[in-house]
Amino acid sequence: MKFLAVLGNPIMHSKSPRMHNNAIKILGLKGIYTRYCLNKDLNLREELFRLGFDAVNITAPFKEKAYEIADFKDEISSQIGSSNTLCLKNNKIYAYNTDGIGFLEAIKGFENIKKALILGAGGTALALAYVLKQKGIEVCIVNRNDRKFQYFNSYQTSLYKNLKDFYFDLVINSTSAGLIDESLPCDKNVLEKILINARFAFDVIYNKETPFYKLCKKYNLKVKNGFEMLLWQGVFAFEIFFELKNKREEIKNAMLQGLKF
Ligand code: NDP
Repeated sequence: MKFLAVLGNPIMHSKSPRMHNNAIKILGLKGIYTRYCLNKDLNLREELFRLGFDAVNITAPFKEKAYEIADFKDEISSQIGSSNTLCLKNNKIYAYNTDGIGFLEAIKGFENIKKALILGAGGTALALAYVLKQKGIEVCIVNRNDRKFQYFNSYQTSLYKNLKDFYFDLVINSTSAGLIDESLPCDKNVLEKILINARFAFDVIYNKETPFYKLCKKYNLKVKNGFEMLLWQGVFAFEIFFELKNKREEIKNAMLQGLKF
C-alpha cells in the first residue's frame, strides 16, 4: 500500500488527487493519494519522514526546497534546481522533475519549432527552457524585471521593454498573469508584435481562458493551455511512484477520467 500526496501551500485547488486516485483504482494498484498543506517555514525533509509518505508531488512554493533536501536528483532537477516529484526509500529522498517532460508531451502537435520565447522567468520557465534547449530549440526569456536572469545564463534574456527580436515560432506564457485577474503578462502592443509573427502558443495556466490565450486565438495561432501539461506531469510522476513501464496510455486515460468527476 503506497501512501502518496501532493504538498504545497495553498493546496485545496489541486486536481492531483482526482487524477492519481482514479489511476490507482483503474490500474488495480494499492495506494491512496491525498493533498496536504505545508507550513511555509517548516523543515520539509523532517516533515516528509514524520508523515510517513512513500512518495509525493510537490507544488508551489516548495519545488526548490524539494530539490535541496533530496539525496539523489534526476538530470533535469540537477540542471534547474527544482523538483516536483519525490520518492522516499530507506531514509533517502529521490527527486525528479516531470513538469518539463509533461510540457514536451503537451506540445507534441506543434511542429518544426526552431525558436521559442518564454514570457516569465520563474521555476516553470526554467524547466521549459531546459527541455526546449535539449530539443535543439533556441530559447529566449523575457520578463518584467531582470532579478531572475542569473538563473538563465545559458539563454538569451531580455526585459519586455528592450525586446528587439519579434520572430518566434512558439510563444509561451509561464507567468501567472491572468490567473486571478484579467491582465496580460506585458504591454499589449509588445505582445501583438510577437504574436503576429508566431505560429504556436502555450499558456501554462489551465483552468481558464486567460487574456493571453484569447489574444493568441485572435491572432489565429494554434494555442494550448496548461491542461495537458498538468495531465502528463502527473502521468510521468505516477510511473515513477509505481515503477511502471508500458502503461502510459492506461494511466493517462484513467487520469483524464478522474479529472471529469
Ligand atoms: P514563479 O513565481 O516562480 O514565476 C512566475 C514568473 O512570472 C516570474 O518571472 C514573475 O515575474 C512573472 N509574473 C508573475 N505574475 C506576473 C504578471 N502579472 N505579469 C507579468 N509577469 C508576471 O511561478 P512558477 O514558475 O512556479 O509558476 C508559474 C505559473 O505556472 C503558475 O501560474 C502555475 O500555476 C503554472 N504552472 C502550471 C503547470 C501545469 O502543469 N500546467 C505546472 C507548473 C506551474 P517576477 O520575476 O517579476 O516575479
